[in-house]
Amino acid sequence: MLLQFPTEPIPIQEIPIHRNVKLFIKREDLIHPQISGNKYWKLFYNVNRYLENNPEKPYIITFGGAFSNHIAAVSAVGNLAGIPTLGIIRGEELQHKWRDNPTLLFAKRNGMNLKFVTREEYRHKEKLTEFLQQEFPEALVVPEGGTNEEAVEGVKMMLNEQTKDFDYLCTAVGTGGTIAGISKFCEDNQKVIGCNVVDDASLENKIFELTLKHNFDLIDSCFGGYGKISDENIRFINDFKEKYDIPLEPIYTGKMMQRVFELIEEEYFPEDSRILCFHTGGLQGIEGANLLLEKQNRNLII
Ligand SMILES: *Cc1c(COP(=O)(O)O)cnc(C)c1O
Repeated sequence: MLLQFPTEPIPIQEIPIHRNVKLFIKREDLIHPQISGNKYWKLFYNVNRYLENNPEKPYIITFGGAFSNHIAAVSAVGNLAGIPTLGIIRGEELQHKWRDNPTLLFAKRNGMNLKFVTREEYRHKEKLTEFLQQEFPEALVVPEGGTNEEAVEGVKMMLNEQTKDFDYLCTAVGTGGTIAGISKFCEDNQKVIGCNVVDDASLENKIFELTLKHNFDLIDSCFGGYGKISDENIRFINDFKEKYDIPLEPIYTGKMMQRVFELIEEEYFPEDSRILCFHTGGLQGIEGANLLLEKQNRNLII
């Protein structure tokens, strides 16, 4: 089995906020140095089952943007397993600039082949997938962000005896696989809060199709749009690191945590609620974000 169960339980830490609710964070970011957070669990069954079938010419193909945590994770899996990987990357213009992008550089160093496609081509991923599956019939083709049924099943491992002890389970939401898994496998008395960082009207339906439960709410946490970084959020992330010694990144976990703090201030959660936020990782993205911020002469993430 390439991806293993953790040898020690993932720590849950209290974030002392001195309000009438209790806030905790589960450090899924610590699960693996290269295959970060929720991406580890989303790839867990996809990759393990694929390799158990002993494909003659193993090959993993997937999709992502220039700073994608999923691309970074799949490239690391390929490196670990010693099998070739192909990343279909959104943005033709990156063809000659990938060396300036820490995520793509990391993927390349892990041996991933990168194929850059136009935004238009990327939008029609289904066609690309069909084409690739014909060309490489044995390949494992993982969808963007890694979200599929196996991914949802893997997310179950983020829940355990300890997580049953909370009234609210919060996660950042991109493609929806992670929240779907939490919603599907949590206890009946638990409520799931999804801080969506992508403005996508179809998200709720997509999630419902994967969980078939109505125990989750999506709360807009886009803060200006997917991938947009505000100075306020940078301040929040840097304060959080200083106060609690926990790093957050500006695309998912930083936005989730800022939104949860706002919700607590707005008294969204009933008194004495116990709230658990999942740190879904993605810290590899900080370096790339800082390069952009530096170019714009803005404050950096510490
Ligand atoms: C991909 C990612 C998410 C979103 O997960 P989905 O299953 O796509 O909703 C959240 N946090 C981090 C750090 C991620 O990399």
